[in-house]
Amino acid sequence: MATVGVVGAGVMGRGLAHDLAQHGHHVLLIDVDNQALADAARAIQQSLRAQILRQGAAKEGTDVIMSRVQTSTDLGMLEAAEFVIENATEKWDVKKSIYPAMDEICPEHTVFAANTSAISITRFGSLTKRPEKVLGMHFMNPVPMKKTVEMIRGFHTSQDTIDAAKRLLEGLGKKAVIVSDSPGFVSNRVLMLTINEAVFLVHDHVASPEEVDMIFRECFGHLMGPLATADLIGLDTILYSIEVLYESFSDDKYRPCPLLRKMVDAGLHGRKNGRGFFSY
Ligand code: NAD
Repeated sequence: MATVGVVGAGVMGRGLAHDLAQHGHHVLLIDVDNQALADAARAIQQSLRAQILRQGAAKEGTDVIMSRVQTSTDLGMLEAAEFVIENATEKWDVKKSIYPAMDEICPEHTVFAANTSAISITRFGSLTKRPEKVLGMHFMNPVPMKKTVEMIRGFHTSQDTIDAAKRLLEGLGKKAVIVSDSPGFVSNRVLMLTINEAVFLVHDHVASPEEVDMIFRECFGHLMGPLATADLIGLDTILYSIEVLYESFSDDKYRPCPLLRKMVDAGLHGRKNGRGFFSY
């Protein structure tokens, strides 16, 4: 089993660490924030226990799985990683310093995957001396439950890198849909616009959040409405992603709804801190 670095221990980093450790990988979970690492370790333990309760007898106990997850604020730990999946905050200014640092620390063969919602993978590759070993792996949330990953081929990404990422996914029981690089890829070029427009409907007093989501669930048969989906993803991540699309395409159709920005400024980040369009 591979040693996999997971950079960023928020919503996505902890889901990934859970899934990788459960499938036998040694995980190096890195964050700049000690509190995020402590919260992540607790959340992984809780979700492993919940999974065992749901599914009955487990192959391994939570303690054995947790022993494969090492947490640290030291990026230098990634020296031992064969594969790194980066899940830091969705802001270019945050992410852009991570890639050159990893490039110095990691051996030449280490593959870097960006689990970004919208930022161009080619831009990440250009921050390193190994652009052929950089690709996008857009995991869905919650990671242990979602079986398909949107995989993105950057301008320089090699076929060997795509194959290595596919092997890693197969070991997790997942498959990939491979797309070319473009901001937001397929999923979020559509989803972020939909969510932003749903927020405009609430902002314009056309309907309440409950009514907007009810139309998607009950008329279209979607499992979740766009605003509950926004809460699940994190309203801060939604705002940063739509901002990336707005800047990348220089197209007004991606202008963030003022209500979305106000809610993020007010600290309403969705499920992860208990309040968004709905309460948790
Ligand atoms: P989050 O806000 O929950 O967590 C981000 C984490 O990154 C925080 O713990 C923060 O301390 C950490 N961080 C910030 N700077 C760092 C640095 N320099 N080094 C290491 N860690 C750093 O965000 P999230 O929802 O987990 O999203 C992470 C990435 O995954 C984003 O790029 C996001 O767009 C993408 N993504 C999110 C979802 C989702 O549903 N939330 C789905 C797919 C992809």
